[in-house]
Amino acid sequence: MTNQVIHTATNCTDPESAKTLTVAKARERILASTETLSGRETLSLRSALDRVLATDINSTMNVPGHANSAMDGYALAGNDLPQDLTRHYRVIGTAYAGVPFAGSCHSGECVRIMTGAPLPDGADSVVMQEQIKCIDGKHVAISSGHQPGQNVRLAGEDIASGSVVLEAGRLVTPADLGVLASLGIGEVSVRRRPRVAFFSTGDELRSISEPLAKGEVYDSNRYSLYGMLQRQNVEMFDMGVVRDDADALRTAFKEAASMADLVISSGGVSVGEADYTKNILDELGNISFWKIAMKPGRPLTFGKLGDALFFGLPGNPVAVMVTFYQFVLPALHFIATGKPYTPFMVSATSRDPIRKRPGRYEFLRGIASQEADGSLSVQSVGQQGSGILTSMSRGNCFIHLPESCAGVAVGKAVTIQPFSTFY
Ligand code: AMP
Ligand code: MG
Repeated sequence: MTNQVIHTATNCTDPESAKTLTVAKARERILASTETLSGRETLSLRSALDRVLATDINSTMNVPGHANSAMDGYALAGNDLPQDLTRHYRVIGTAYAGVPFAGSCHSGECVRIMTGAPLPDGADSVVMQEQIKCIDGKHVAISSGHQPGQNVRLAGEDIASGSVVLEAGRLVTPADLGVLASLGIGEVSVRRRPRVAFFSTGDELRSISEPLAKGEVYDSNRYSLYGMLQRQNVEMFDMGVVRDDADALRTAFKEAASMADLVISSGGVSVGEADYTKNILDELGNISFWKIAMKPGRPLTFGKLGDALFFGLPGNPVAVMVTFYQFVLPALHFIATGKPYTPFMVSATSRDPIRKRPGRYEFLRGIASQEADGSLSVQSVGQQGSGILTSMSRGNCFIHLPESCAGVAVGKAVTIQPFSTFY
């Protein structure tokens, strides 16, 4: 076999031709630099909700512990059930959940049994009480048509002794709390939460208690970042607004890196501001300034500030949120769990025509809703500018338009990503 060399001409729609990174490549590079936290702590069961399991949970017992009845009814041996004709059985006692019947059940006998009560010795099937006829206080009539083993929950059918019930790296859900409790586990070892420091940069930014002069804006990025981070169960350090001043920025970057596993800044990475920030970051860490073939969120700064992972997000409020969901979340997920992040994506029918040229990956904000026939459709929120923050608040999903997409006609399928937590 000969080595084939394929020459391809670049063109103006090729993202690489403009020295830009694709979204996928950027994500790949980010994940290659991301390490999972090793710290762990032991928590009581309730406190472990939404935390990441540090170890596998192995079961040392069967759940349920014993075969038991799934119904209120009468327990008897499956091979003693009536074949063709109705038969009479003697009721020899009662089994309650928590108060088992001590004797055993022989041919021609049955035991009155309540839901959850262990099956008496000699019995392996239950006939629902609605399906029997009482003859007198001591006898019942059972007709044919029953199956041996019916209405019985087998020992270990939920959790078998010796099995791995929950795997390390898993986020503990409400159901998991119940599963752990059903095993009698009162404490679990979880990974420590990622520490995330974040701040906004910009001379034009004001805090919400201050009056606005002409050209000034309220700092909104720290609030949307707070909201997104709050959902990720991280330890947060909100460092406020940092002025576009070399010393102030240097101090903020250093301080953030010393206390956090992940540092996020917004603003200061667009053309014009980038060189300024670049000099400071170059001095402090190993940082790359990327242009990503995407919209919104083209400029992104990424790297290591000391031991901390650093994301310099663009300042535009929509770009902050888009780049957070597309790049920060996958990294944060890996830091927290050691597992790759797979966002929930589904297909929906576009209710609008969408114009797009091949080249960049675009993330439109959409409003997905369910049609009367149960299918999912999505409409654009309208204005899609990267400063239109209300597009994120009115929308409930990103409409993914990958690099090669050349527009979408009404009624065609698009992939949507609901804005969601990263787990
Ligand atoms: P920059 O990336 O710093 O050039 O900022 C781009 C745009 O986003 C400018 O219009 C800024 O005023 C705006 N911006 C930057 N940071 C924030 C913030 N924290 N809150 C609201 N708007 C911001
Ligand atoms: Mg700025």
